[in-house]
Amino acid sequence: MRNVQRSFLAAVAAALILPSIALASWPVATTSSYVSQWFRGSHYGLDIAAAAGTRVVPMRSGTVVFAGWRNNCGGYQVWVSHGNGLYSAYYHLGSETSYRGKPVYGQKTTLGYVGRSGCVTGNHVHMEVWRGYPWARGSYRVNPWNYVASGSYLPYRYR
Ligand SMILES: [Zn+2]
Repeated sequence: MRNVQRSFLAAVAAALILPSIALASWPVATTSSYVSQWFRGSHYGLDIAAAAGTRVVPMRSGTVVFAGWRNNCGGYQVWVSHGNGLYSAYYHLGSETSYRGKPVYGQKTTLGYVGRSGCVTGNHVHMEVWRGYPWARGSYRVNPWNYVASGSYLPYRYR
């Protein structure tokens, strides 16, 4: 009987814990941000407008694989590996608090701060979700919305 209870509890624990690992969530640490441009044919990411200096957090836990400036119009950017070939990338940061190899935690670790570095005119995060290492041959971007439409920072208008 005790073993049955134990395995039952293990199953309950798995049911409770696994979804929180699998889920991803809103990557800007304020509920007053908003989508200023959606993913579409010519725009392979999601633009989230927020005040300069707002914390940018990973959509889920992982490891930083790139942090720094690149001449791809993205300015200061951070790329995070989430395992199983899934990556997220955050662009136009005002400043970064990340380095390659750093473990980061979904909606917790500060990757950097909202800014307007790169080829932009206003403060926002351009966020991408990649299948495969970002910008590598054979990799491609998917709509981030399916990954970020949840979490404690999701603005009320999207709930
Ligand atoms: Zn964009």
